[in-house]
Amino acid sequence: MLISIVIPVFNESKNLKPLYNQLKDNLSNYELDIIFINDGSKDQSLDTLKALCQDNPICRYYSFSKNFGKEAAMLAGLKAVQGDVCIIMDADLQHPVEMIHEMIEFYHKGYDQVVAKRDRQGESIIRSIPTKLFYYLMNVTGDINLTDGEGDFRLISKPVVKSIISLSEYNRFSKGIFEWVGYRKKSIPMRNVERNEGQSSFSLFKLIDYAIDGIASYNNKPLRICFYLGSFIMCLSIIYIIIALIQTLIHGIDTPGYFTLLASILLLGGIQLFCLGVIGEYIGRIYYETKKRPHYIIQESSDDND
Ligand code: UDP
Ligand code: MG
Repeated sequence: MLISIVIPVFNESKNLKPLYNQLKDNLSNYELDIIFINDGSKDQSLDTLKALCQDNPICRYYSFSKNFGKEAAMLAGLKAVQGDVCIIMDADLQHPVEMIHEMIEFYHKGYDQVVAKRDRQGESIIRSIPTKLFYYLMNVTGDINLTDGEGDFRLISKPVVKSIISLSEYNRFSKGIFEWVGYRKKSIPMRNVERNEGQSSFSLFKLIDYAIDGIASYNNKPLRICFYLGSFIMCLSIIYIIIALIQTLIHGIDTPGYFTLLASILLLGGIQLFCLGVIGEYIGRIYYETKKRPHYIIQESSDDND
C-alpha cells in the first residue's frame, strides 16, 4: 500500500528535516510518497526541501510563486497524490506521526476518513473561546455539522481525495469540504502539542476572517437573517407610525422628540449597513468565483528535474 503524505509548508525550514526523520522512522513498514507544498515561504524552507528531495527519492515538492494560503497548498498536494490513501498533516510537528498507524488501522476497517480530534487542554482562553463560538455559530447556521477539535490532520481514502479535488470553488474552506463530501468517518483523540519552532501564522483576526468564510461559504442563512430582521423592524415601524398618527389626531400636533428621531436614524442606519455588509460578503464571493482564477501558481517543483 502506497501512502501519500501531503504537507503544506510556510516558513518551516527548521521543522522539515525532523519531520521527515519522524515519518521515515515511524512508518518504515509502509511505502511512502511525501509531498511538500512550499506556500511561498520567506525563510530557507525551499532550499531545505530541495536538498531533502534530492537525497530522498520518496520526497517530492511543489513550490508556489507566492503565499497562496494553506487551503491552496492542500489542494495542490491532493492533486499530486498517487497513493492508495492520503494523510494530510502540518509541517510544524504539532501532529503526532505515531497516530498515522491508528489511522491506517481504521482505514482497513472500512473508514474513508480518519480524523484526529484535538482536545483544547492548555490552550489560551483568547484562542479557545472564539473557536468555541465559531463552532457554535457554524453549527447553528450551517447545513453541515463541524466538530470542535477536528482539524486538517486526517487520513482520507483515494475516493475522498477525488471528491475533494472535484470541488473547484475558489473560496475553499476545507473543514467544511471534508464534511460536505461525506463518506464513512472515524474520529480519534489527539493530545495537544505545542509548536516546536516558529510561530503559528493564525492570529485572532485571521480566525475571525476564517469564521466568516466558513459561515458564508456553506449557506445563505445570514441573508435570511437580514430578511427577517428587516421584516421585523418594518412591522415595528408600522405599529409605531399608527400609534403616533392616532396620538397626533387625538392630541393635535406634537413636536417630535429629538431623541426618538436620533435613535431611529442611528439604529436603522446601523442595521442597514450591517445587512449591506452581509450582502457584500456574498457578492464578493460571487465576484471571485466568476473570475475563475487558479487557486495557486506553481513556480517550480521536483518534477522539473525528472
Ligand atoms: N501554512 C501554509 N500556508 C500559510 C500558513 C500556514 O502552508 O499561509 C502551513 C504551515 O506551514 C503548517 C500548517 O499550514 O504546516 C499549519 O499552520 P500553523 O501551524 O500556522 O497553523 P495552526 O497550527 O496554528 O492552526
Ligand atoms: Mg500549527
